[in-house]
Amino acid sequence: MQSLTDISAVRGLLDRHGFRFSKSLGQNFLINPTVCPRMAEACGADQDTGVLEIGPGIGVLTRELCLRAAKVVSVEIDSKLLPLLDETLEEHNNLKIIHGDAMKLDLHELIEREFKGLRVCVCANLPYYITSPIIMGLLESRIQADSITVMVQKEAAVRLCAQPGTRECGAVTLAVRFYAQPKMLFPVSRGSFMPAPRVDSAVIQLDIRKSPPFEVKNEELLFKIIKGAFGQRRKTLVNALAGAGFDKASVGILLDKTDISRLARAEELSLEQFIRVANTACEVDLC
Ligand code: SAM
Repeated sequence: MQSLTDISAVRGLLDRHGFRFSKSLGQNFLINPTVCPRMAEACGADQDTGVLEIGPGIGVLTRELCLRAAKVVSVEIDSKLLPLLDETLEEHNNLKIIHGDAMKLDLHELIEREFKGLRVCVCANLPYYITSPIIMGLLESRIQADSITVMVQKEAAVRLCAQPGTRECGAVTLAVRFYAQPKMLFPVSRGSFMPAPRVDSAVIQLDIRKSPPFEVKNEELLFKIIKGAFGQRRKTLVNALAGAGFDKASVGILLDKTDISRLARAEELSLEQFIRVANTACEVDLC
């Protein structure tokens, strides 16, 4: 089995296949030998588990997943990596590589089709340029999976795992918390990659909820309010929501009815408070 974390071995493999890194595809391959086994262990892959990976690269994480899971399906956009993957992962017969764009594939349908009878998890070192859309796409489409364990840029990890009511909290924090319980697992330095990116990364885990934490009457309205409130996060809620197209007087009445100060700012509210605002807006027909 050839090493996928030894720099000169990896260089040799890439040169033999005439491979050139694409910055626009977020191609920074892991060469720190400790990271992938740790991620594969953390995601809980075992003989009852199917794992969806996005972006196998040369297969360094894929290999660790194949050693533990019943089945691994890995989606890679770059056709130039397919012959490399054929070579590096040839001994794993529980692996299916799908050549495609994870942003365009129906991942909900893919999971249902590929992992019948298995518990499912997602595990990936995500290309940085699609971190949020991939995570939100998976959560919003309500994929049938237990958890999402992903490496993302450190700044994104902090935002995705922030506590509501803190400065790091953004619209995406609350959106993630609606669908999952996030936790920060471990940091990964930029020197762990080839080529090294400009920023550090971190591995996070989202444990997907079986049902929302509170009853929501209109999810679309809830997320419209959250996005509007954080769109101009330095403004008061009343002004931020007025700027997002809501009627200013109605928002003031709504906040009074939900016992939230008209002077409050988005980052001061919990997810439950946002849900109360959205539910009350439905009750009093202010939506
Ligand atoms: N898993 C490998 C590792 O840890 O070394 C590679 C991770 S690298 C950060 C991201 C990988 O995602 C690259 O292989 C890249 O070609 C692939 N990729 C980029 N955009 C993609 C997309 N839209 N769909 C599927 N794969 C994509």
